[in-house]
Amino acid sequence: MNKVQFQSGLSLPTFLKRYGSEAQCKTALQHARRPDGFVCPRCQARAATQFIRYGHRYWQCVAYRRQTSMRSGTLMEQSKLPLRTWLLAMYLLGQSKTNLSALELMRHLGVSYPAAWRMKHKLMRAMAEREARRQLGSVVQLDDAYLGGERNGGKAGSGPENKRPFVIAVETADDGRRRFAVIDPVPAFSKAALAQWNSHRLRPGSDVYSDRLGAFRAL
Ligand SMILES: [Zn+2]
Repeated sequence: MNKVQFQSGLSLPTFLKRYGSEAQCKTALQHARRPDGFVCPRCQARAATQFIRYGHRYWQCVAYRRQTSMRSGTLMEQSKLPLRTWLLAMYLLGQSKTNLSALELMRHLGVSYPAAWRMKHKLMRAMAEREARRQLGSVVQLDDAYLGGERNGGKAGSGPENKRPFVIAVETADDGRRRFAVIDPVPAFSKAALAQWNSHRLRPGSDVYSDRLGAFRAL
């Protein structure tokens, strides 16, 4: 049994127990976005009046009358779908090891196809944007990997033919737990390509472990 494949996640029954109702989802969003209560995004004021519009609660700051809802500034801002539908979409997309199609999402969520398609693309883009900026630090393990191309062939010792090279890096906590992983395509395993990857992905002062691939040693 592979430890990574068999690690425990959040089961669907547990997810539904925690985030199955609209009230639970609202509380979760409130804890995530406003752990210390309302703060106006424009003037940082804490004093506000509240009102309900189209079923959503709004806060209006006393100083500038700026109106914000719990969804303002999130990718759910323009959406009329319930929060529990959004959170279930996040759960399903996050749990799927193979790419979940918009059609499958439509069936699971009970929404229209265009709605499922929009949700999927907004969530995937938000995840990609967050991961694009991710930097690994403390203890990082590196390896080279290849995807696609012919399984066999190519000259001996020249590396896999027609395969796309990737760097795989994993950040490990002091207790040995894996925290984050990045998988980045690189043009080649050259010193120049890896130096560029290094400046983008690794925090200065990290301990890096790898095999003896020449380009990695240059890091
Ligand atoms: Zn304000």
